[in-house]
Amino acid sequence: MRTGDNEYIKELNYKLILDTLRTSGVASRADLSRLTGLTRSTCSVICERMLMQGIIIEIGTTDSTGGRPPTLLQINNRAGAVLGLKIMEDQIAGATVDLGGNIIEKQTLPVSGSRDPELYLTQFEQFVQSLLVRHKKIYPLVPLIGIGIGISGRVSSEGVLMESSILKWRNVPLRNRLEKRFKLPVHIENDVNTFAIGEKYFGSGSEYDNFLCLSVGEGIGLGIIINGNLYNGSHHGAGEIGHTRISFADEAPQCSCGKQGCLEAFISDRALTEMYHKLAGSVVSVDQLINLAKAGDQLALDIFAHMGNYLGTAISSLINILDPQALILGGERTNAAPFFLPSLEQQIAENCIYELAKEVALIVLSPSNDDWIRGVAALAIAEFFSTHNQRRI
Ligand SMILES: [Zn+2]
Repeated sequence: MRTGDNEYIKELNYKLILDTLRTSGVASRADLSRLTGLTRSTCSVICERMLMQGIIIEIGTTDSTGGRPPTLLQINNRAGAVLGLKIMEDQIAGATVDLGGNIIEKQTLPVSGSRDPELYLTQFEQFVQSLLVRHKKIYPLVPLIGIGIGISGRVSSEGVLMESSILKWRNVPLRNRLEKRFKLPVHIENDVNTFAIGEKYFGSGSEYDNFLCLSVGEGIGLGIIINGNLYNGSHHGAGEIGHTRISFADEAPQCSCGKQGCLEAFISDRALTEMYHKLAGSVVSVDQLINLAKAGDQLALDIFAHMGNYLGTAISSLINILDPQALILGGERTNAAPFFLPSLEQQIAENCIYELAKEVALIVLSPSNDDWIRGVAALAIAEFFSTHNQRRI
């Protein structure tokens, strides 16, 4: 065996133990040996190195079946923090998150002029700078180890925003620009993909290898996890279920992507409120539409049932194509789930092939602004865990 191979195996073992500890939460050295298949002595040597690096900590002992009680270990969540950011049309949201996905602090900044990338990014950079300075001042002992950014649109593996139908930007080399400016590793991904990564890393997806994350709200997006990894397609365009054309009618609604008759054009927030306006004559916000449904307004209830029908049909197609273990429904419009879930579930039950509807777990997240934060942060945290083994103390 060459020395290089030896080093490589050491690094793999280091990563294996770190990942095992991260997913199991708390474990003794003996647990780690059993879970990883590595020998006790290999586990002990690696754990000693991690303890010296401060990446793991000892948290007491467990009951012993005889002999010295084993010491329990866990990841030191405050060994580092990442800055998670979400770029939206009219605002930027940012938060510092520790290695365990816990939010340390979050802030938002309203922005103007989103059509002009230069104008927008100037405001963005000032916001990031202020968050970095603030973190350094308040938490000097928790080093910031990276920046994760979620954005709507197609993002290349080099961190270039190739195109975004919401922002109308094209070929903006975000990662390059921000890494030069902030001297930190920057990870950029489509916002719905960050939702899926976050669920895999910290959320209800952690127990599954194959699952789908569907986001409902202003847009309809899909993140796909296959064999434990994000699937983003051959051209970084996977998951655009919202832009599947479902109507060829002349009167089919216009979509934000510029085309006509897309799924999103039928059931996005804008589509639902426009439908109410068309049928009832009054202009409502989506929150008002939900309140109307809560008050028993039949038209509002019918509109959400209609949304459930369309969404359930789309989900059954996804299940028929990909046969996942679970489908996780998230996004801000899960706050209307009581009104659209019955028809959604009925469509899934009726339209899935074989017995798949019974096999696939449907998980509806409670509406929370924090899902995206952990998702975006998971980008940078995942990178930290996968490369930390290459650092030497
Ligand atoms: Zn579209």
